[in-house]
Amino acid sequence: MINSVFMQGLGAAVVAGLITGVGGFMIFLKRKYSQEDINFMLNLAAGVMLAASFFSLLCPAMDRIRMFDPDVHVAGFWYAGAVFAGVALIWLLNEVLPHEHNTMGHHGLRSFSLRTAWLFIIAIMLHKLPEGLAVGVAYSAEDFINPHSLVIGIALHNIPEGLTIAISLVAAKVSKLRAAFTALLVGMVQPVGALVGLLTMDFSDKIVPLGMALAGGTLLFVVINEILPETYGTKKTEKSAFAVFAGFIFMAYLNMVLD
Ligand SMILES: [Zn+2]
Repeated sequence: MINSVFMQGLGAAVVAGLITGVGGFMIFLKRKYSQEDINFMLNLAAGVMLAASFFSLLCPAMDRIRMFDPDVHVAGFWYAGAVFAGVALIWLLNEVLPHEHNTMGHHGLRSFSLRTAWLFIIAIMLHKLPEGLAVGVAYSAEDFINPHSLVIGIALHNIPEGLTIAISLVAAKVSKLRAAFTALLVGMVQPVGALVGLLTMDFSDKIVPLGMALAGGTLLFVVINEILPETYGTKKTEKSAFAVFAGFIFMAYLNMVLD
């Protein structure tokens, strides 16, 4: 069923995905980053992704899964199961991925490992799939969801997410250009999700909320288990907390005005 709705939905998801690259290239705004800048930015990114997991994934998924079954316990079981599956999935991945030895940098600071960066990026990549799916579903069910506001919302929140990806790679000593391009590539997961959404319209309205809950679980796990402990090791907890809240509040604001 290749029709105009299909092309519109796919096109919108491609544009939204590309915007992730815009965020990634924002890493060039500053010429050089000190370890302190990087910690600050990682905390900012943690706040952004905490807000994204609650406001864009966990909360809307809860509302939709509630409609699965009139029995709240059954719906609650599906919801809790999906979040748990997300946590378990990324935890397993964490176990399987090879561990590096923690090296002490010459300033006595532990350098952010590439492995941690990739774990974070995989979690971000996973959550872009249900977001893309949602775009696809919105375009094929235009009567009850406004696809344009959804796409604008996803496109705009892709900017801080793209920057987040680039920040975590730069923190792991990857070059800025590679970091920015990786953000762009990760953004392309969204049109893949949209394609799946457009092709599987008949049952994807059930898959989307479950996928959102699962993705919320994976993101929360990486933020809580990897990102926050990494940056909180450097004593200046007040500055770290401030950065987390700045990221969280900014994303909350975006969510509010774009809804
Ligand atoms: Zn997102």
